[in-house]
Amino acid sequence: MAAMIPGPIAYFNGGYVPIEDAKISIMTHAFNYGTGLFEGIRGYYNAEEDNVLVFKLPEHVDRMMRNCRILCMDIPEDQAAIEEICLEVIRRSGFREGVYIRPIIYKSEHSLGPTVKGVESRLCCYIIKLGDYCDIESGLDVAVSSWRRLSDNAIPSRVKSTGSYINSSLAASEAKQAGFHEAVFLREDGTVAEGSAMNLFLVQNNKVITSPPNADILVGITRNTIMQLAREALGLEVIERNIGRSELYVSDELFFCGTGAQVAPVRSVDRRVINGGTPGPITKQLQSVYFDVVQGKNPNYRHWCRAVY
Ligand code: PMP
Repeated sequence: MAAMIPGPIAYFNGGYVPIEDAKISIMTHAFNYGTGLFEGIRGYYNAEEDNVLVFKLPEHVDRMMRNCRILCMDIPEDQAAIEEICLEVIRRSGFREGVYIRPIIYKSEHSLGPTVKGVESRLCCYIIKLGDYCDIESGLDVAVSSWRRLSDNAIPSRVKSTGSYINSSLAASEAKQAGFHEAVFLREDGTVAEGSAMNLFLVQNNKVITSPPNADILVGITRNTIMQLAREALGLEVIERNIGRSELYVSDELFFCGTGAQVAPVRSVDRRVINGGTPGPITKQLQSVYFDVVQGKNPNYRHWCRAVY
């Protein structure tokens, strides 16, 4: 008889359970008010080592823990415990392929009233198998959204909060309904923020430019990785500064990056073609360095990868 392959195992209410048993009540605070925060973390399968390598796990958990302060969240699990839970759900599920890990800290009480203070929070975590989330070969057609990015004094974008993804969903759906692949958010002041679930970079005269951390963006782990790799591996100048909308149309190259998106070239913005409609040379170099790094093939950055097995 063939060995039983386990279904995905989740972490829920302090223990490991089959994903079908990880259920919350419709009265849960987070379900009613969007008071959850989460991470999206990738594990890449390395065939030579027959292992799954989780990319920048401590950095993701650190962002989560810091953002707990904004939503007044307090959970029993600490940084080390959460890292271990992220690895353990993969081990218990027995996955040996590309995975996406989704830890969520959420207001778990069954209480009425939109407040963040004094409401009990819990951690849960699940995984799914994940390959490419968007086209990373031929380039994306994107459009500036009519929806503005959430501002820091409304719902802080730096928190990867469940509620804030209404903003992302509206922009992404608008773009897709109009025949584009993805949206670019502007801020209330008209400067460029980011994509619906990814950060945006432009390349101008061999300089790599991206919006600063106070530009209503989620300060992406991939963004930081790309900035470091552009400087160290490609020797390029990297600049964080506000970006105007029309700069997008005249840039030499444009690309998105994020855990899900990875490094995704943009070939047009509002039907204005970028780099002749093909991925630019710097984008392609960064893509190639990035994929080597996340797959554990670059010894200089191997410490960013955590082996699961
Ligand atoms: N911005 C938004 C709105 C996102 O949802 C994501 C995906 N987490 C990113 C940027 C990229 O962040 P990271 O590189 O940490 O995945």
